[in-house]
Amino acid sequence: MNNVMEAPVIELMCDLIRRPSITPDDAGCQGTLVGRLQDIGFSCETLQFGDVTNLWARRGTAAPVLCFAGHTDVVPPGEESEWSSAPFEPTLVDGDIYARGSADMKSGLAAMIVALEEFIAAHPDHNGSLAVLITSDEEGRARDGTLKVMEALTKREEHIDWCVIGEPSSQHRLGDIVRIGRRGSLSGILTVRGIQGHVAYPQLADNPIRRFAPVLAELHQIEWDQGNDYFPPTSFQVVDVRAGVGAPNVTPGELSARFNFRYSTEWTHESLQQKVESVFDAHDIDVDLKWHLSGEPFLTEPGKLIDAVTQAVTEHTGEAPELSTGGGTSDGRFISPAGVDVVELGPVNASIHKIDEHVKVEDVITLQSMYRRIMELMLL
Ligand SMILES: [Zn+2]
Repeated sequence: MNNVMEAPVIELMCDLIRRPSITPDDAGCQGTLVGRLQDIGFSCETLQFGDVTNLWARRGTAAPVLCFAGHTDVVPPGEESEWSSAPFEPTLVDGDIYARGSADMKSGLAAMIVALEEFIAAHPDHNGSLAVLITSDEEGRARDGTLKVMEALTKREEHIDWCVIGEPSSQHRLGDIVRIGRRGSLSGILTVRGIQGHVAYPQLADNPIRRFAPVLAELHQIEWDQGNDYFPPTSFQVVDVRAGVGAPNVTPGELSARFNFRYSTEWTHESLQQKVESVFDAHDIDVDLKWHLSGEPFLTEPGKLIDAVTQAVTEHTGEAPELSTGGGTSDGRFISPAGVDVVELGPVNASIHKIDEHVKVEDVITLQSMYRRIMELMLL
């Protein structure tokens, strides 16, 4: 049992875990990684935006560029007394290491660093370049992290070709799911204006509920799309409708509502907004509609990166991974728009953000080996 704890990847993961890097505090994690990366020939650049520390590291100047990406920040542990062991002290129980950040995603970070060390030691003259992009602002507002780093890289025309994100993508066992994209998320926040009045004199009032109801019905009847090979059908959900002044004999003067689209690559946020606005325009309704875009959908098309990741996983697990666009947000939404092929491959995500978060030690060691194999398939 002690042997696995002495594996370099596990030692590095435990070192990172002991730094309580609650978002957006990096707590010195990136300093450790910089030292390791400089030792294997990376030039490292710290990009500080506000209170967020980001790292861009690159080895070589040639194209193509294969980048590993991730985050050092973790979500708060919650009530520490509810944990079976101290959240920032890695604790081994039955082959699992328990700690905040163990699965999301200090295991992924450690696996990519040690995989890079091994690959470069064996193949110092690899093709192209290797890069590492790390932020401490993935779990928080995500405004001063990967988004800003990508803006800086784009400005100086530094291009990434392929990116592997070490987020916990797996569901039941390591490598069962590889994420190759994500649905878009677009919210609408609206106010319908009318004229408040006495319920007995509707001719003197203008009831916004009456105005809004047919629009709502029409929006629900639209088949937005049927999805496509990689995305489920676009979904429209109303999350809130409120009006009324609290008295049974008063019709309200205003109605407010919120809705959200989770949408496929059949749409952009502009085309969806246009469609919704055209529905409102066809009705006699005084509405103020505001939009909030959380992220456009992205998809990595079949190609060299997906082939390599699929092969690396299959060689280790005996089964090809499911290529999925499900799940919540990740920084892939900021990397992909620069024309980068992005996939996410990391440990099992069942315990992330929970009390007693944990990761299987064997999985971390296998993940390191998968990452190394991806580099061999891409850069030799
Ligand atoms: Zn994460």
